Amino acid sequence: MNANFLPFARPDIGEEEINEVVSALRSGWLTTGPQAKRFETDFSAFLGGGIECVAVNSATAGLHLGLEAIGIDAGDEVITTTHTFTATAEVIRYFGANPVFVDVDASTLCIDIAAIEEKITPRTKAIIPVHFGGLAVDMTALLGLAKRYGLKVVEDAAHAFPATCHQKLIGTWESDVTVFSFYANKTMTTGEGGMLVTRSPEIARRARIMRLHGIDRDAFDRFSAEKPSWYYEIVAPGFKYNMTDIAASIGIHQLKKVAGFQQKRERIARLYDEAFAGLPIVLPPKPRAGDLHAWHLYMIRLGDDAGVGRHTFIERMFGQGIGCSVHYIPLHLHPYWKSAYDLKPEMFPVSQSVYEHCVSLPIYTRMTDADVEHVISSVKSSVLTS
Ligand SMILES: *Cc1c(COP(=O)(O)O)cnc(C)c1O
Repeated sequence: MNANFLPFARPDIGEEEINEVVSALRSGWLTTGPQAKRFETDFSAFLGGGIECVAVNSATAGLHLGLEAIGIDAGDEVITTTHTFTATAEVIRYFGANPVFVDVDASTLCIDIAAIEEKITPRTKAIIPVHFGGLAVDMTALLGLAKRYGLKVVEDAAHAFPATCHQKLIGTWESDVTVFSFYANKTMTTGEGGMLVTRSPEIARRARIMRLHGIDRDAFDRFSAEKPSWYYEIVAPGFKYNMTDIAASIGIHQLKKVAGFQQKRERIARLYDEAFAGLPIVLPPKPRAGDLHAWHLYMIRLGDDAGVGRHTFIERMFGQGIGCSVHYIPLHLHPYWKSAYDLKPEMFPVSQSVYEHCVSLPIYTRMTDADVEHVISSVKSSVLTS
């Protein structure tokens, strides 16, 4: 590929991360150990402290552990949105439980909170909202609804670090569990990784046990003052979801930079907004005044008057050396979800329309001003030349 090609996403890894990984490698302790512990402590401090943070090897693992800890069982129903990555819903299937899909709200592209209520049945146990693109779901409304019906809330915050709703950071709200992703293209990365965050000591304890084979090292304490170092008890058939110290070493330094990363992405979003204002393009929804948008995605929608379809637009952008992406092919269009739950596009008119028109543009910290200008001029020429 052309060396001048601007990829859709690219991680921002500095010498600090590299040196920390090297020292972890030299330390002789590679798997979960002091660095993972330090990353969890630092992450909790970032969220204002007093919050339990459990580092895991992916957000998918974190969502799985979260649902396990709140007691999701076969036959249960969990309400979520069709307009997301498959991980949000697949974790529900891990239990033999069933996702119940609702459309997104056209003004936020997050789950349509008003549409949740009519999907609640006696089997409904939980809601998984997705902070789409890094724009926070209205947590006051969502938690209010969940409370009225006695439902658990597990936030898929894979896009939302850091983001706020009513000036309160996602991860600090009263939901049961919040899960962040540190996949390579997310707002901060550990290569692969995630963080399960909870205000509940019981959920945190269960997640810590289940992320590592169901091993309970504290169990022996109950019966004896002496705890031999070799002793542990298996209390459940757990998983292998722990974060390595190598990954945590990257995360420790990404976390220190993440506020600066957010500012850089926000600036790019503002430059795009200004440049595209007069074009036949629908711009991404904005956060409320005073709120922080994580800007994981900058997703435009081509208007019917844009004179170009999505497919051609992406090809034109590619022809000008720019990588774009589509978020997402909604779950109701994927063969598995479609057939397992008899889903049809008409059930999700907003998501379907978003899908047909959407294009995500590059938005990441290592883009230069010239890169941003290049994207802007390429969007203009791709839209206006028909
Ligand atoms: C990336 C992503 C996930 C999964 O994150 P991993 O860390 O790759 O497991 C889940 N949900 C959404 C919305 C995502 O974008």
